[in-house]
Amino acid sequence: MSIIVRGVSKFYGEQKALNNISFEVKTGEIVGFLGPNGAGKSTMMKIITGFIPASSGNVSVNGLDVESDNLEIKKQIGYLPENNPLYPEMYVREYLGFVASIYNSGISGKKLTDNIIELTGLAPEQNKKIGSLSKGYRQRVGLAQALIHNPAVLILDEATSGLDPNQIVEIRNLIKEAGKEKTVMLSTHIMQEVEAICDRIIIIDKGAIVADEEKSEIYSKIKHPKQVIQVEFDKETTETSLAGIEKVSIVKKIRNNIWEIEADGEEDIRPLIFNFAVKNNLTVLSLNRQESNLEDVFRHLTNG
Ligand code: ADP
Ligand code: MG
Repeated sequence: MSIIVRGVSKFYGEQKALNNISFEVKTGEIVGFLGPNGAGKSTMMKIITGFIPASSGNVSVNGLDVESDNLEIKKQIGYLPENNPLYPEMYVREYLGFVASIYNSGISGKKLTDNIIELTGLAPEQNKKIGSLSKGYRQRVGLAQALIHNPAVLILDEATSGLDPNQIVEIRNLIKEAGKEKTVMLSTHIMQEVEAICDRIIIIDKGAIVADEEKSEIYSKIKHPKQVIQVEFDKETTETSLAGIEKVSIVKKIRNNIWEIEADGEEDIRPLIFNFAVKNNLTVLSLNRQESNLEDVFRHLTNG
């Protein structure tokens, strides 16, 4: 087990940010930490990386206790904090050389810097000031400082927020590539991000875990599934007659002859719609069932 979190709570003064959180991350897993703003994601990550203490409970990373082995743990973890604080007046290579020198790992600082500049595609920008870089390149510098000492565990807090779609794809690819041999925990409020990168999903809301599942299992969290069908007929029909189909709960007109039909339960109602059409002398031009997606699960669990 790479990360073990046991009964962690965190108070900021009177305010409870985390309420008795427990979970484990296995070696090599890529876990998405998902939750609305203020849920406690950044707080949890700062505790795992040893930057702030928990109010109660404990955390271990690779068998080391975060409180008592604080310095050793920082060597094993790469951390990209939220909003990626950097020194805008420093040059890319100068800054990464500085970070490399802190780790004093036995490998020369120059070699570490060369390697990481290559890995993160920063070569063309290495002699520019950090402050003059695009947001995408600044985020690469943030990832470079997190990866420079080849840590076993990567903690990435909102690594792609504020980037444009091309930059998001580039940074995700870098994370996927780097994550092949590492344990990764990444926070995001973007559902597609966890669908694209993660093996497992932990959803937190108001400081508590509301779901902790393999990506393939998360959909079973919706206890009362509904199905939404879009159907197009060749001729007009009425809302009342469609609402008369067995199991149908809601009927909405989208456009002329195109309807959205909702039903409770999992039993596929498309055959019933088809029979309705035949009985009413209508031809079905299209009939699509819309899959529920991670966004539905998220809203269902966080009442967002
Ligand atoms: P998230 O990263 O999921 O948006 P945070 O961990 O940043 O959530 O915040 C969780 C809660 O703790 C929020 O209500 C936030 O306002 C509060 N909080 C976070 N950091 C501090 C702090 N340093 N001092 C006081 N309250 C804080
Ligand atoms: Mg945050």
